[in-house]
Amino acid sequence: MPVLVMKFGGTSVATLDRIRRAAKRVGVEVSKGYDVIVIVSAMSGKTNELVGWVNETSPLYDAREYDAVVSSGENVTAGLMALTLQEMDIPARSWQGWQVPVKTTSAHSSARIEEIPSANITAKFAEGMKVAVVAGFQGVSPEGRITTLGRGGSDTTAVAFAAAFEAVRCDIYTDVDGVYTTDPRVSAKARKLDKIAFEEMLELASLGAKVLQTRSVELAMRYKVKLRVLSSFEEQSDEAGTLVCAEEEIMESNVVSGVAFSRDEAKMTLVSVADRPGIAAAIFTALSEGGVNVDMIVQNISEEGRTDMTWSCPVDQIKRAEKAMDDAKTAGTINFNEVIADMDVAKVSVVGIGMRSHTGVAAKMFQVLSNEGINIKVITTSEIKISVLIDRKYMELAVQALHDAFELDKVA
Ligand code: ADP
Ligand code: ASP
Ligand code: MG
Repeated sequence: MPVLVMKFGGTSVATLDRIRRAAKRVGVEVSKGYDVIVIVSAMSGKTNELVGWVNETSPLYDAREYDAVVSSGENVTAGLMALTLQEMDIPARSWQGWQVPVKTTSAHSSARIEEIPSANITAKFAEGMKVAVVAGFQGVSPEGRITTLGRGGSDTTAVAFAAAFEAVRCDIYTDVDGVYTTDPRVSAKARKLDKIAFEEMLELASLGAKVLQTRSVELAMRYKVKLRVLSSFEEQSDEAGTLVCAEEEIMESNVVSGVAFSRDEAKMTLVSVADRPGIAAAIFTALSEGGVNVDMIVQNISEEGRTDMTWSCPVDQIKRAEKAMDDAKTAGTINFNEVIADMDVAKVSVVGIGMRSHTGVAAKMFQVLSNEGINIKVITTSEIKISVLIDRKYMELAVQALHDAFELDKVA
């Protein structure tokens, strides 16, 4: 039988009623003759609550125990979905990550999937089971401990299953009806895209568009998974939603195809660091070993042998970063005057493969922000994106102004 993967996000399984509604949709696909693998998230809000409990108990927590706690939300929805399907006379069984097993690295709280042996689930399909309900977001490390794949990780579970089982398609059911030119909750003018290129989706996701986890897009691109994002709240046809696909399959293309933002950023500056060969290596090794994910980096020009080093990182990693720097100072590996943390920043980015062949996008972006009186704190660019760090209070304004200026509400 052909295999179809269907993933339901937190809002799509938020109540028993919604689980029933999702199960009905699964039933429709079963009746078309598919063996279905359903990936479920925790009920919406559940993972945040669990993360909150961990932080309250232990601010610099042991990531193995964080995973033990935050993975639990998906166990509940997987069991409930299997029961709901059984009530509909559809043979279904639930699987936690370790039971499949979803084998991952031991990088707790941000583990990567290494292998999903298909034998166990395939054997059940052969016995007549029609639906395997798998708890998303979780796996098992080589040491035999539960791991999680990073926030939003159920998307990655879904794509990895689609690749491992050579599924005909991976459908991501969520609370919006596709991928938009920007978050429809921030700009009313956001336009739904029928198709988006893997490269663009990859950038948008990594720059904060949480509709798909970045790693899920990477996997879909590598394994050529047919990936679709669609709403679990509307009636669906086979063409519904947004198809994430290869660039060649897209006819229309604006120079800029989307605006992404990330609210939870922080900027840190190490003031007056002794400027010598190896200093950047010393700083960023210490941060990396301290579990800090550094994003943007700027080094100022040096005066009298001393310089300032600025970087951005997720705001919830500030404590870890400060500790890493203090420890390095105590150990004598880095010498600096002070660390300044700015917790009120956000990152706004414009993305588009058209930038490869068009100039002037950066100039236009900076002009738009200047017209709105928004100061830029840090800039980074790549071939198909430009990102700026700005005061968080201007984030929505910046997104809307850029969306207007690049006319993203209109088809090219
Ligand atoms: P789920 O719980 O189903 O995984 P998420 O909350 O993780 O859902 O992702 C869906 C949300 O992503 C939407 O509600 C929307 O606010 C947000 N989002 C951000 N950027 C975009 C975008 N460009 N297109 C669509 N949705 C986006
Ligand atoms: N429940 C997890 C989270 O909220 C994983 C997911 O929903 O994709 O991050
Ligand atoms: Mg999500």
